[in-house]
Amino acid sequence: LQKTFPLRKQTAGLFSKKEQLLAVDNLSFHIKEGETYGLVGESGCGKSTTGRMIVGLEKPSNGSIIYQGKDLGTLNDKEFFPLRKELQMVFQNTLSALNPRQRIGSILEDILKVHGVTNATERREQVIDVLEKVGLSEYHYFRFPHELSGGQVQRLGIASALVIKPRLIVCDEPVSALDVSIQAKVLNTLMELQQDLHLSLLFISHDIGVIRYISDRIGVMYLGTLVEEADTDELFSNPLHPYTKGLFASVPDPYMRKEEMSDLKGEQPVRTKEFKGCAFCNRCPYAMDKCAEETPEFLEISSGHRVACYLYEGE
Ligand code: SF4
Ligand code: MG
Repeated sequence: LQKTFPLRKQTAGLFSKKEQLLAVDNLSFHIKEGETYGLVGESGCGKSTTGRMIVGLEKPSNGSIIYQGKDLGTLNDKEFFPLRKELQMVFQNTLSALNPRQRIGSILEDILKVHGVTNATERREQVIDVLEKVGLSEYHYFRFPHELSGGQVQRLGIASALVIKPRLIVCDEPVSALDVSIQAKVLNTLMELQQDLHLSLLFISHDIGVIRYISDRIGVMYLGTLVEEADTDELFSNPLHPYTKGLFASVPDPYMRKEEMSDLKGEQPVRTKEFKGCAFCNRCPYAMDKCAEETPEFLEISSGHRVACYLYEGE
C-alpha cells in the first residue's frame, strides 16, 4: 500500500521543487474477522492515513485494499456506498464533528436515514438500542452533544459508528483525549462490543499501554511502513526490531522527565521517492552499511512474528 501527498520542499528559503511525500509506503497487513489489530507508532508515521484509506476517506496512490474480495481503491462512490456501512471510523475528537444544535437522538437517526432506514419507529428503537450498547441511555436521546462529558462524547462517537451495524471499525486514537480513568471504561466498552458483535477493530494509537490492553495482534509502524508485527503477548515478551525496543523503553513513566525516558534519539525523517534503505537507519544504534542502501524485507521469524531488519535475516 502506498499513499503520497505533495510536499513543498524548502530550498534556500524558497518553496521550489514539488516533491511527493510518502505517508504510507511498502505497507502490507491483514485484519482477521473478529480481531482487534493494533497499529502503534509515533505521530506522523502514517497510522491515521492508513486508517482513512481503509474506510475510504482517502484513496491509495498505489497498491490495494481488499475487503471481502473487492479492491476498495478501484470502486467509485456509488460502488463504495453499500460498503461504507460496513466500514466505520471513530475519531479522537468526536465533538468537533457534531452539530451542537442537534439533539443526540436526531444525529444518530440521520445516519440511519442516509443508509435507508425509512421507518421512524424503527430508527428510534435502533438509536436507543445503540445508546444502551455503548453505555449511554434513552435519557441521552434528547440531550445535546455539549451536555455530555468527554467520555460520553467518545461513547457517542462509537454509537454513531455502530448504529448502522458495521463489520470493521477503525478507531483512531479514540481515547487519547480522555483522562486515564475514563480511558479504561471506554476501552472496556469497545472490547465488550467487539466480542458480542464479532466486530473487527483496527485500533490506532501512539499509546503503547492502550494498544497492549486492547489488541490481539499489533503492527509497529514507522515512517509509513510496518517494521514489526506479532501477537500482543509475543511482541511484548520478545520485541525484535530496534525501533520496537526503543518504543517500549520510552513508555512514559509519570515520574520521569521526558529527556530521561526515551531511548529513541533523533527525529523521524521525511520519506520521499528518493528514500532507500531501512526506514529506521538514521536512528538505529545497530545500523550497518547495507542498512542505508537496501530496504530489509519484512520476514516471518517465527509463527506470526514478522520483522523488517537485517539483524534477523538468515535466522
Ligand atoms: Fe537498524 Fe539496520 Fe535493522 Fe534497520 S535494518 S533496524 S538500520 S539494524
Ligand atoms: Mg494520527
